[in-house]
Amino acid sequence: MKELELYIHIPFCAQKCHYCDFVSFADKTDAFEEYVNALCREMEYYKERFAEQRIKTVYIGGGTPSLLPADLILRITDSLYKNFNLTETKEKRKGLFLQKKIRPTTEFSMECNPGTVDKSKLDAYWKAGINRISFGLQSTIEDELRTLGRIHTYEDFIRCFEDAREVGFDNINVDLMQALPGQDMISWQMTLGQVGTWHPEHISAYSLIIEEGTDFHQWMKKGKTISGEERNGIFLPNGEVKLLPSEEEERDIYYFTKEMLEKSGYKQYEISNYAVPGFECQHNIGYWKRENYLGLGLNASSMADNVRWKNTADLAAYIQDPTQAAEEEKKLSVKEQMEEFMFLGLRLRDGISQTDFVNCFHQDITLVYGEVLDDLYDQGMITYEEDNIKLTDKGIDVSNRVLAEFLIDPE
Ligand code: SF4
Repeated sequence: MKELELYIHIPFCAQKCHYCDFVSFADKTDAFEEYVNALCREMEYYKERFAEQRIKTVYIGGGTPSLLPADLILRITDSLYKNFNLTETKEKRKGLFLQKKIRPTTEFSMECNPGTVDKSKLDAYWKAGINRISFGLQSTIEDELRTLGRIHTYEDFIRCFEDAREVGFDNINVDLMQALPGQDMISWQMTLGQVGTWHPEHISAYSLIIEEGTDFHQWMKKGKTISGEERNGIFLPNGEVKLLPSEEEERDIYYFTKEMLEKSGYKQYEISNYAVPGFECQHNIGYWKRENYLGLGLNASSMADNVRWKNTADLAAYIQDPTQAAEEEKKLSVKEQMEEFMFLGLRLRDGISQTDFVNCFHQDITLVYGEVLDDLYDQGMITYEEDNIKLTDKGIDVSNRVLAEFLIDPE
C-alpha cells in the first residue's frame, strides 16, 4: 500500500513574532470556526484521491495550532479519521492505546506555543490520538524571548512541558533558535543546559535568518561592537540595539550544540535536528527523502508522484471554497527531481544512498554528478560511507554553497 504524509496548516497566532515570515494572522479570532469548516471540506475533497494510501505521519503546524479552542482541534482530528486511512490511531481512540494494549505507529505531531496551551488542552490532544508535541520555545532567556516578540516565558514552557508529560506525551520536541540578536555563547549555553534538564526526546536548533518583510528586517542596520567591529544589529523601537552574532560565533554555537547534545545521548540526524535514537521526526525525514505529502489549509504545499502544488495564501478565498484552493499543479522534470534528491537528502547526516539514486532515476549517480562529487570530495566537503554520500563537518559549515553545486545547468 502506498504511503502519504499529511500536513495541516493553522494560520493564526496570538501576535506576530518580529522574525516571522510565515503565513499567519494575529487578528482573525472570528475566522477560527469558518477556517476549520473549510479544512474539513478540503479533507472530504481529497478523500477519494488518496483513499488507497496509508497515512504515515500527520503534522499540525502553523501559525499556532494550540491557539484554537480544543474542540476545534478535535473537529480536525475527527475529520482526519473519517476521511483518511489512519487505522492505528483510530484504535487508539477506542481506548485500546490508553489501556496499553496497542502502540499507535502513525506519528501524529502538533505544534504548541507555550503561551497558548494548558493541561486540559493537552489532555484533549492526547485523547484525540496526537502522540507527539512540538513546543516552540526558542530560548529560555526572558530578554531574548522579548526581543523575538514571543508571547510566552520560560516559566510557561516549564508548566506546559510538565503538563504534557503528566497527560502521557512521551515524544516531545523543543524548538530552539541560534544566532539571535544579543545572543552569545554564555546565553546559548544557559538555554541548552536548561532545556536539557527536561529531557525532551527531540531538539531542533535552527539559526535565525532575517527574512524580508519582517520587523527584524526593517530594524536591521549596521552597529558596532565594543571593540569597534562592524556587525549587523537589530535596532529595537525602544532604543535598544542587539548585535547579531558573527559567522564565527554562530559556528561555535553550532559545534557546542552538537557536542553537548551528543554527550547527552542525542544523535544529530539532520543538520539542525537532534533526537534520542528512535525519536527522529518521521514526518520531516519523509520530506527530506521526498516522500509524497498532502498539505491541507492556507498556503500549504503538496507533492504526490513528483507533481507539486500549493494552496492559495488568500484566507477569504480559501474559506469560501477550499476545493478550489490549489493553484496550478507542476510536474517536476527529472532534472528538478535529481536536484531535490541531492539537496534535501544531503541535509540528513546519513546523506543519500547511491542505490536509491539508481532506483529513482535508472542511472548511476556518477553519470550525472561525477565531476561535482569529485571536486567536493577533493575539497573535503563530502565523504563516502559504504553506499552513502554525506556532508563532512567542513561541508556543513558552508552547506548552502555545497548544496547549490547540485543544481544542474540548463541544457
Ligand atoms: S508563533 Fe510561530 S508562526 Fe506565529 S508569528 Fe511567531 S514564529 Fe510566526
